Amino acid sequence: MKCSKCENKAIIKIPYANIALCKDHFIEWFERRFERIVDKYKMFEGSKRIAVAVSGGKDSTTLLHLMKKLGDNRGLEIIGINIDLGIDMGKAYSSKSTEYAVKNFEILGVKYRVVKIKERYGFTIDETKHKIRRPICSTCGLVKRYTLTEIAEEENADTIVTGHNLNDMAQFIMSGYFSGDVQDLARLDVITPPEKGYKVKKVKPLFLMYEKEILTYAIVKGIPFLYDSCPHTFRVGGVTQDTIRRKLEEMEEAIPGYMLMLVENFINKIQPALKEKYIKEEELGKCKICGRPTTKGREICSFCAVRLKMTGEKVNVR
Ligand code: SF4
Ligand code: ZN
Ligand code: ZN
Repeated sequence: MKCSKCENKAIIKIPYANIALCKDHFIEWFERRFERIVDKYKMFEGSKRIAVAVSGGKDSTTLLHLMKKLGDNRGLEIIGINIDLGIDMGKAYSSKSTEYAVKNFEILGVKYRVVKIKERYGFTIDETKHKIRRPICSTCGLVKRYTLTEIAEEENADTIVTGHNLNDMAQFIMSGYFSGDVQDLARLDVITPPEKGYKVKKVKPLFLMYEKEILTYAIVKGIPFLYDSCPHTFRVGGVTQDTIRRKLEEMEEAIPGYMLMLVENFINKIQPALKEKYIKEEELGKCKICGRPTTKGREICSFCAVRLKMTGEKVNVR
């Protein structure tokens, strides 16, 4: 297979664009596509200092490299954040993940913070498994969102970027349809505005980039990343999530560009309509412990509720 732009051998076929590209042309195409998406969705309008959440996997490390380049070209300051969630399960997942994140921060020379949630909040994600009634990924998501916002605010960042890719987005959408969770679908934004009283918006710059393209980019650019996936992934997602992901890949094989259409149509047309209908400007309360917004009528936020349960700390909120 020859490159569509030169005489060299192609390393990747991009069926939905009807092209095949050699290493250099793929890198050029991928980086240009990333910038085009960033511009089309005005992702960094008003941003000056951007915090990149890096877990050490292929998506977030690739995002870090792309953001560093974008930052250098556009005068944006980039800071890396890695959260050590305390996931071990005999595989040292979190320590390996931190090791890869730091490796990349140092290669690129970006300022960074590593935050161990055990040191900061007194518990690990593994420890929540039998103590907190939510599914472990739901607790983990809550802890990650909370910690990221806190650290980004401490670091005076105005934007947080995360490495969710096109396959992740397609899976969220199909799972939302499957379970009928309209609220979750309505909140599935690419740019999430800051929480009330805060200034950090959250952005998903890789939301239209296929997992396969990201992986290829990481490999050909020689980006060091952690191949292992979190030991909780399968237990949590179970058969349903795994099947949805596989079926989406099969659809993509049969109809090149299927996932891209699914996600673009959702984000451009369906999500704004759902948001308008289902997300009301609710009046929010204020957490009596940390001061962050809570659902009206609740005295403490979901994160503080988890933290208190895990640490056994007694707090009189009345
Ligand atoms: Fe956290 Fe679940 Fe992701 Fe593991 S798979 S890092 S527990 S959200
Ligand atoms: Zn070429
Ligand atoms: Zn709180």
